[in-house]
Amino acid sequence: MKTVCKPDKCTGCTACVNICPHNAISIQDTMISLNAVIDEDKCINCNACEKVCHVNHPVTKVEPMKWYQGWCEDSDIRSSSSSGGVAAALERAFVNGGGYVCSCMYSKGEFIYSVTNRLEDVENFKGSKYVKSNPSGVYKEIKTLLRQGNKVLFVGLPCHAAAVRKYVGEKYEENLFVADLICHGSPSQKLLKLFLEQHNKSSVSVQNVEFRKNNKFCLSCDDKYIAQKECLDKYTMGFLNALFYTENCYECQYASKERISDITLGDSWGSSMPAQEQSKGISLILVQTEKGGQLLKDSNVELFDVDVENAVSNNHQLRHPSVKTDKRGYFFAGLKKGKKIDLLVRKCYPKSSFKQWIKGLLIKLHIK
Ligand SMILES: Cc1cc2nc3c(=O)[nH]c(=O)nc-3n(C[C@H](O)[C@H](O)[C@H](O)COP(=O)(O)OP(=O)(O)OC[C@H]3O[C@@H](n4cnc5c(N)ncnc54)[C@H](O)[C@@H]3O)c2cc1C
Repeated sequence: MKTVCKPDKCTGCTACVNICPHNAISIQDTMISLNAVIDEDKCINCNACEKVCHVNHPVTKVEPMKWYQGWCEDSDIRSSSSSGGVAAALERAFVNGGGYVCSCMYSKGEFIYSVTNRLEDVENFKGSKYVKSNPSGVYKEIKTLLRQGNKVLFVGLPCHAAAVRKYVGEKYEENLFVADLICHGSPSQKLLKLFLEQHNKSSVSVQNVEFRKNNKFCLSCDDKYIAQKECLDKYTMGFLNALFYTENCYECQYASKERISDITLGDSWGSSMPAQEQSKGISLILVQTEKGGQLLKDSNVELFDVDVENAVSNNHQLRHPSVKTDKRGYFFAGLKKGKKIDLLVRKCYPKSSFKQWIKGLLIKLHIK
């Protein structure tokens, strides 16, 4: 099997798939790892795939110039976003200024990236999707818009943000604005689909999937919780424990405070802001470039100082990638044998599962 980058290091960004003039590349997704596989019968050895790959040729990282915490001034946007709603504030301001935004949304059973210059579409981008989204197809669209003189803001996972910068190249960089997320790691979409199917939710008939509501982690489909309101379902438990990300995430080159973007957004974990504000969601904001600073200035965002050391110590993704757990082998071996995700996660985390079960029971009995 000939692959574009080293085996199992692929992030599934699909830049190589999109640049190949002979459709010779496909992403092999085993849920454990991703690989961009080259069909040698179709390949003409032009090397375009190897060159565009951000794993083979990393994008330069820079230290943030400024650190803030804050939130979107519009309370509706803040409450319907995952943390402080800063992403939505940047996106709305960008569209209002005549630009295009590319970010992630749920469409027909899949988390894809989409490009728009309409405020009503930007609404669909709100919320963290704890899954590896699919950017296939957007690279060409972004480059064409930039070539035509438009401004484009990309908001997404750091590995996809790096891929966009590689694909676009230096020539069109001026009008490209890049915001990346602090990222814990992400599972394959196949795993999420399987989990939903095991809960009798066909990903095609479900209209909306949410991973976080009112600043709480829990998976819901069309406003119905998979577990119980306020309780962790087993997908979220596995996600938060770094049980089943794709292999590349455990060696993520973007898990540091040096970033490849103009601006970085995350959660302001460990914030000393009043508890009332914390419960509404507070974003952590890292500004790397003048362009990133301008984006923030133009947006409807309330900003505050943040203790950088504290922010970094409360967010390991700014220091190192998530650490692979020894339960991962057990999980995927069980999955291969056809065991249910609920059962496997429960066996991996018996104590947390029991606590969640008790919590659910108390809620049902109206004791909690
Ligand atoms: C897989 C993943 C892991 C994360 N891990 C951490 C972490 O360890 N520490 C931390 O501080 N923050 C983490 N975050 C970021 C956090 O969840 C919030 O997205 C961030 O704080 C911004 O919040 P917000 O309220 O401003 O915007 P949100 O409402 O969260 O919107 C975020 C923006 O990012 C886009 N987006 C969301 N999910 C995806 C996705 N899967 N692929 C591409 N684009 C996406 C949305 O479309 C939207 O434009 C993670 C996010 C994801 C998706």
